[in-house]
Amino acid sequence: MTELLHKTAAELGRLIAAREVSAVEVTQAHLDRIAEVEPKVNAFLHVDPETTLAQARAVDERIAGGERLGPLAGVPVAHKDVFTTTDMPTTAGSKILEGWRPPYDATVTSRLREAGLVILGKTNLDEFAMGSSTENSAYGPTRNPWDLSRIPGGSSGGSSAAVAAYEAPLSTGTDTGGSIRQPAAVTGIVGMKPTYGGSSRYGLIAFASSLDTPGPFARNVLDAALLHEAFSGHDVMDSTSIHAHVPPVVEAARQADIAGLRVGVVKEFGGEGYQPGVLARFHEAVELLESLGAKVVEVSCPSFGYALPAYYLIAPSECSSNLARFDAMRYGLRVGDDGTRSAEEVMSMTRAAGFGPEVKRRIMLGTYALSSGYYDAYYGQAQKVRTLISRDFDAAFHQVDVLVSPTTPTTAFPIGERADDPMAMYLADLCTIPTNLAGNAAISVPCGLADEDGLPVGLQIMAPVLGDDRCYRVGAAVEKALEDRWGGSLLTKAPALEGLGYQHG
Ligand code: GLN
Repeated sequence: MTELLHKTAAELGRLIAAREVSAVEVTQAHLDRIAEVEPKVNAFLHVDPETTLAQARAVDERIAGGERLGPLAGVPVAHKDVFTTTDMPTTAGSKILEGWRPPYDATVTSRLREAGLVILGKTNLDEFAMGSSTENSAYGPTRNPWDLSRIPGGSSGGSSAAVAAYEAPLSTGTDTGGSIRQPAAVTGIVGMKPTYGGSSRYGLIAFASSLDTPGPFARNVLDAALLHEAFSGHDVMDSTSIHAHVPPVVEAARQADIAGLRVGVVKEFGGEGYQPGVLARFHEAVELLESLGAKVVEVSCPSFGYALPAYYLIAPSECSSNLARFDAMRYGLRVGDDGTRSAEEVMSMTRAAGFGPEVKRRIMLGTYALSSGYYDAYYGQAQKVRTLISRDFDAAFHQVDVLVSPTTPTTAFPIGERADDPMAMYLADLCTIPTNLAGNAAISVPCGLADEDGLPVGLQIMAPVLGDDRCYRVGAAVEKALEDRWGGSLLTKAPALEGLGYQHG
């Protein structure tokens, strides 16, 4: 195993820019690591060393030619398979898109390329990003590097597992209801949901368009900030993209000072249904914030309790409309087209064969919620709850600079445990969903291991709209204090990584 795997993305970027190591060498080290652990982890749906090494060679040539690229030039990144890529297939974890080659790159993809990042491959996910465990992928589940019998979170579970297993220093994800923060929490890494509209949805296969938000995964806060900055910012191709500068996330991650910061603990999150070890680490993190000079108060957000039911009306409603485009005519799979059947029959057979059970459940839920006669009672009510949640955040951010909570009520659960119980699965996103409904920013950073099972716990830090830098500032302060205490990152405490051939440096 090579030393290069130990390094942070920021260090790799510096070494590559200084030509002390080449992008090709760094890429090859990660491709070797992928080949070594993928049979066990299954984080990737597509890896193509030729294409990837060609990208790395091109970056090395640009640097050799004297071009000054960004701080992550030459650094490999694993890319969630829900962003379109012209040089790799894009499936969204669904059979309905098997083998599809998109005709254009997503904005996030093209910005990664422009910044000189090297795309290692496409990562596994719950079908169309619907799920919290990656078990809903049509291509088999991804396994958590901390314990291969457990889930790596979802929907961006391939991206979280790839980073936690040292297959990639960085990865991309999307967060519609928690799909970056929850997988980051349960794999012991950093995951950030930017402000809605701060990162482009162009070329992101749509799930729920008013919620979908691309964001970064990394093994430390600064690396996450660097990736965030690399692909964010206004995009004319996305009508909901914000006309504003990217908040100073990198500067904030370097600052890591929270003296005098006002921190609110969300009163509604905690108690029954939460794993004791999760709550214990969360309360210690709150004490840590206080010891670092923050002023901590309890804040009530009374509408947060209605966020989950509101989300499970709004997200399926939008998905039922977005997924109507998979009609057997324009993309991917076509079933039963033998010349005897009508277009409607072919469409129906294709959708029946191409979509998995969770996707069908969401489409039916959403179609019902939007149907005439029920629209006001379901979709309309849910939108009102959404407004109340935004008001709770507004009131809270009058009192405090950031809000904190556990990222998710439990640690990584065993594969299969919640697969037949959608409600239990949905509860994994209890604490993350309010932020999606209100569109503000939130990060998850590791805050320790639960006593019961020795598995990672995440601290969620929520900030106002366009206050993304605050998430990084607080996250970096927590990380610095905890890593001093632990003598390294939380991943150095993952015994299972040794079983995956990884030796900490
Ligand atoms: N787990 C949630 C869901 O199933 C969130 C998914 C996401 O953020 N993409 O909808």
